[in-house]
Amino acid sequence: MTRSNVVKSKIKWLQHASEIEADVIDMRRHLHQYPEVSFKEYQTADYIYQQLQSFGITDIRRNVGNGLGIVARVEGHKPGAVIALRADFDALPIKEETDIPFKSLHEGVMHACGHDAHTAMLLGVARIMNQNRFDISGTVVFIFQHAEETKPGGAKSMIQDDALLDVDLIYGLHVVPEYPVGHVGYSLSYGSAASDTVKIHIQGRGGHASKPQEAIDSVIIASEIITNLQSIVSRFVNPQDPAVLTFSSVEAGGGVAPNVIADKATIVGTVRTFSEETRQIVKRKCIQMAQVIAEMNDGTVEVDYYDGYPALINTKNIVEDAVQTIQSSQLFPGVSEIGPMTGAAMIGEDFAYYLKHVPGAFLNIGVGQEGADEVYPLHHPKFKLNEDGLVKGMEVYLLLLMKHLGGEVG
Ligand SMILES: [Zn+2]
Ligand SMILES: [Zn+2]
Repeated sequence: MTRSNVVKSKIKWLQHASEIEADVIDMRRHLHQYPEVSFKEYQTADYIYQQLQSFGITDIRRNVGNGLGIVARVEGHKPGAVIALRADFDALPIKEETDIPFKSLHEGVMHACGHDAHTAMLLGVARIMNQNRFDISGTVVFIFQHAEETKPGGAKSMIQDDALLDVDLIYGLHVVPEYPVGHVGYSLSYGSAASDTVKIHIQGRGGHASKPQEAIDSVIIASEIITNLQSIVSRFVNPQDPAVLTFSSVEAGGGVAPNVIADKATIVGTVRTFSEETRQIVKRKCIQMAQVIAEMNDGTVEVDYYDGYPALINTKNIVEDAVQTIQSSQLFPGVSEIGPMTGAAMIGEDFAYYLKHVPGAFLNIGVGQEGADEVYPLHHPKFKLNEDGLVKGMEVYLLLLMKHLGGEVG
């Protein structure tokens, strides 16, 4: 293919995205009306499979991983790089409170994280790539992932089940309602924090409030643990490496009489960290300090520490290249870096697992509603997205694919 033909084929791909925009919006609306929670996305998986088949794609694997994951491959005319794109397709146990005409028909379940949009965009790109497969050198792997919202998530198990077989690079996109439509956000390294949970069960001995010497006060132990564990972040963690430890729930006494010393207490906290080293320090100190404090007070503790998704670490040069490609296309109203500690970055995201295996980038695409009185964040029952963002998301994917697969052919 000559240079000018390459340019023509690139323009053709982008034109296709605009041509099928209405179909992509229809797919998104269908998914939005029939949302399903993590690990139960039966109709959704069927729908994705049927759409892929209707585009003429033949290499499709179902039930990948610990749930309903789907992996489809579109091979180009000539060999080349293998690029994976991932969309998640589960919804949340939230009762939708929007006024849109294609509102959820599944009571108490809602696509409040935009995974309906992620899936529709990726289906659109799959259709375009399959139509243009004779123009590409390389392979595109479409990963439709179940269960992003619920631990242990689908990503890790899909990787174990060969979703990343021969893959050189991976990209993912997440919609962001706080950005204007079509605005692209990126992080050069950390894209989201590791998010772990600590539950500390304290066992003391109940007694009369007037005879503390005969009891072991679980409330005192709980309060000493809460206060002392705050020094983990301030004294044991490198100040250059952000960490947060928040105790969000305390339960003790069960509302009984004020003259009774509570025998048991439970405190629950959340831990957010970026580096694996800091993550392990916080975990070790939480367990150690809770035990020592309980012992000092003649009580005992049981610490349940639940590891959540690891931190999402983008590959710096891949992000830089992607940003350069996106910026030079002049198709997007804005491109900006998101700091690692800001909003979206502190949300857990199991795309992190893919990036532990292959280099890649997880980017954000704006789906803000122009002139909206209030912006409802992801996971809010009134979350709404601007569907004009779907074609922009497809353009991001197509530009990145062109860069790797539509380049210097023949
Ligand atoms: Zn979510
Ligand atoms: Zn999400």
